[in-house]
Amino acid sequence: MASVAFHTLGCKVNHYETEAIWQLFKEAGYTQTADENPADVYVINTCTVTNTGDKKSRQVIRRSIRNNPDAVICVTGCYAQTSSAEIMDIPGVDIVVGTQDRKKMIGYIEEFKQTREPKNAVGNIMKTRTYEELDVPAFRDRTRASLKIQEGCNNFCTFCIIPWAKGLLRSREPEQVLQQAKQLVEAGYKEIVLTGIHTAGYGEDFKDYNFAKLLQQLEEVEGIKRLRISSIEASQITDEVIQVVKNSNKIVNHFHIPLQAGSDTVLKRMRRKYTTQFYKERVAKLKQIFPDLAITTDVIVGFPGETEDEFQETYAFIEEMGYSELHVFPYSKRTGTPAARRDDQVDDNVKQARVQKLIALSQQLAKQYASSFENEVVEVIPEEEVKDDSGMFVGYTSNYLKVRVPATKEMVGQIVKAKITRAGYPESEAEFVRVIDHDAKQFV
Ligand code: SF4
Repeated sequence: MASVAFHTLGCKVNHYETEAIWQLFKEAGYTQTADENPADVYVINTCTVTNTGDKKSRQVIRRSIRNNPDAVICVTGCYAQTSSAEIMDIPGVDIVVGTQDRKKMIGYIEEFKQTREPKNAVGNIMKTRTYEELDVPAFRDRTRASLKIQEGCNNFCTFCIIPWAKGLLRSREPEQVLQQAKQLVEAGYKEIVLTGIHTAGYGEDFKDYNFAKLLQQLEEVEGIKRLRISSIEASQITDEVIQVVKNSNKIVNHFHIPLQAGSDTVLKRMRRKYTTQFYKERVAKLKQIFPDLAITTDVIVGFPGETEDEFQETYAFIEEMGYSELHVFPYSKRTGTPAARRDDQVDDNVKQARVQKLIALSQQLAKQYASSFENEVVEVIPEEEVKDDSGMFVGYTSNYLKVRVPATKEMVGQIVKAKITRAGYPESEAEFVRVIDHDAKQFV
């Protein structure tokens, strides 16, 4: 039986897609091997979000070639899409597939085994208008299931290469999304995380259907206990979405709303589609629905031209919003984007100092948010056992607090009531209260 090893760089979507590609190999009779054992085929799912992403991708490709020089080396993903010729030039690379046509990968491998002819199968992603169906029926060691609902993005923010790597926005057919959701519920998942590249842009390419309507239909899928949106832009929190959220029993009280900058002048240079005022208003509407709302966000520090005053605006805005966690990224050039061509790049030392300030602020805000749940009874889905024989498990609440709670293996993936005894960040501690049976009955 032939074996395959996977290597995934970059974001959650890439990890999701590797799982989907693995399903294709599994159906073709392959076994999966860890990277240390030589495999017959290596699939490297690359990232190109920054120039560093490219460099890391090249390193991993070379390492796989060294591991087994006789293996078939197949490179896919975003870096493969944007720079296929560069990858083909690495001696030992056999097949390059971009961010489409992954279903053809195994056919290319078979062909290569016969002909030994390297193949560059990357096409023009900008011409692709349909969503490529790739199923992931189950995830290894996970209690939360990702469900990909769309691909690509039409926004062209000035720092981002993604539209060039993933193509323009295309949404998955609602029937397919709903069918996959039902399949995940049948596989035992209580929580579904809607993912994509520009997730809540879902439906922008449809005539009479949109993201709010999809949420409404998912609400009706029996068995889903928690519905999480991996990321939603402020501009996508429409009144219609707010209405669905308000009437929902499943959409969780946690939203990841990318901010990138809390200064209107920086947002404009980034070509983001909102102002801080608009962002604030949308969050206020969500807070009316969920007084205990958790908002997490991404921030880019040191975007070209960012002055000290602009950084201070960002800092103050973040403080005011009271995020429950920040993901802070120093601006990193991506060749081919308008921002990388600007000649007002921020000095690295200045950038690093600002990053440190925001990381400290994130810690402070996260602790503050978590502390408001001390002595509260919350619902946790235990995910995995802590490896110290203490009988403790870690899991997440609906508002994404990471909680350590005494539990058993049988409770993994179930909803458990727990009382937070010590609120903290990155983890809170809780005592076990009881299990809530997934069929809505309760038992001790
Ligand atoms: S919204 Fe902007 S940052 Fe996000 S994927 Fe699209 S272009 Fe990139």
